Amino acid sequence: MGRELKRVALDFQWPENKVWEGYVNQHYSKSHDCEVCGGSGSSPEALHLKDQWYGNAPFRPEDRGSMPFLPSHPTVRALAERNVTRSPEYYGNGESVIQREAMRLADHFNRSWSHHLNADDVAALIEGGRLMDLTHTWTPETRWQPKEPPYVPTPEEVNAWSISGFGHDAINQWIVVGAECKRLGIDFECPQCHGEGTIWDSPEAKQAAEDWTRIEPPAGNGYQIWETVSEGSPISPVFSTPEELARHMAGTRWGADEGTSYETWLQFIIGPGWAPSMVMDDHGLRSGVEAMCSNEKIMLDEAG
Ligand SMILES: [Zn+2]
Repeated sequence: MGRELKRVALDFQWPENKVWEGYVNQHYSKSHDCEVCGGSGSSPEALHLKDQWYGNAPFRPEDRGSMPFLPSHPTVRALAERNVTRSPEYYGNGESVIQREAMRLADHFNRSWSHHLNADDVAALIEGGRLMDLTHTWTPETRWQPKEPPYVPTPEEVNAWSISGFGHDAINQWIVVGAECKRLGIDFECPQCHGEGTIWDSPEAKQAAEDWTRIEPPAGNGYQIWETVSEGSPISPVFSTPEELARHMAGTRWGADEGTSYETWLQFIIGPGWAPSMVMDDHGLRSGVEAMCSNEKIMLDEAG
């Protein structure tokens, strides 16, 4: 993600700021997103369950045999108090304000499956090695250690943990929805693309895309600076000496490289040859080439 010196053939020609063709897998042009699943790879049923998980499709806690959160639930109440205390200018003050916020939060939590797991959902997560916060202990010395004897949290515990702000990630969603599809005997993956999300023009095209490897530009005696923020493209002409390239780069009048001196560029070209585009350090936000070379200089100074 930055600037890189490349040694390329002196007669190498490729437009600046255009991704080098050797870095682009052209075979992907022989594929398109699956129309049935919109490229998600999920069956319509699994997509609906996923929407319920995130509260984007109608959901009731009772659907999972779960009790709706009430405004008086200790975690809901604590969150409401926290919100109101943090932003009195937004919420106002007093018990009725806290109660109204608690009602809003409970209502919000009751709209997502993710806060209303049942015992089957919890079992699927435990089997998938998830819920470490509840099944393991952690200390800096011993790291994660399973509780002894092995501990299986109740759905209520998991759901209180979920609304408290730790919560489930996308992997948990994937595991729980997958397990539910299996229980219901419905497709988890899109039957059209078999979960890939992509339809290929031919099996040969797919194979070619998988077999593809990057091709570097022709190597040689030339010096050129590339950006690696995209897949990679040259941002200077090819020069035959480090000095010429450094002089050109010191003349850059835009973007991350503006203002980096000839000496710094020369040091970069004959030195590390790679730097992030921008760096935030004690000197503020500055070009990565500058930061890396000044650090290098300090290290050299200290060494010698
Ligand atoms: Zn599909």
